[in-house]
Amino acid sequence: MEMSILAAKEAVVKAAHLLAKSGMLFRGSHANLSARVDERRFVMTRGGSVADLEASGLSLLDLDGNVLEGEMDATNKEVISMHAGIYRIRPSAGAVIHTHAPHVTAFAVAHEPLPLIYEPLLRLGFTEPVPVVPWAPRGSERSVGGILEAAEAHPGVSAVLMANHGVLVWGDNPGHAAQVLINLDEAAELAIMARALGGAKVLPERAVEEVRERMAAFGSRR
Ligand SMILES: [Zn+2]
Repeated sequence: MEMSILAAKEAVVKAAHLLAKSGMLFRGSHANLSARVDERRFVMTRGGSVADLEASGLSLLDLDGNVLEGEMDATNKEVISMHAGIYRIRPSAGAVIHTHAPHVTAFAVAHEPLPLIYEPLLRLGFTEPVPVVPWAPRGSERSVGGILEAAEAHPGVSAVLMANHGVLVWGDNPGHAAQVLINLDEAAELAIMARALGGAKVLPERAVEEVRERMAAFGSRR
């Protein structure tokens, strides 16, 4: 799990480029991404747009929100505690990503939890719908408190929808977190498209166990 600072930065840059390529940044390219370095430290994007992110665009922080190396723009200083909070409550989280990925953000602005309708999410460990966290100004104590409360109340997801704003996901590493986000946005897009056909149907009750059994039989990790 422990990564060198440079390796962590490079993994974030790679994930940001993947997100840009797969349409996860919406038109403003606004996003913030981070990756854990060790138990106490993580690297995080310094500015608001990550479309052309380079390793020099990341700074080193600790879990109390102190900037150890580099600088942080004011807009991203506002949301340091959102990333640090996830690392504190989820020791297995190696990366955190926030974007306004369009389809999953549509659920966030509709205050609608994203139902469990798409098998790839089960393979990524999702066992329940993705909850919506009530709106509060980004990065505020109320917003971050709501996010952490929802994350603790829903151990079967590694994402929350931020009402009237966007989505926050976490994963083992930046590449994994990016995959989680991409699959969430696919699920959201499919759910919206399925409405024209009478609506998406949830997976059968035993689907979570059956997917786990099948992956175990093949030794698949996800
Ligand atoms: Zn945002």
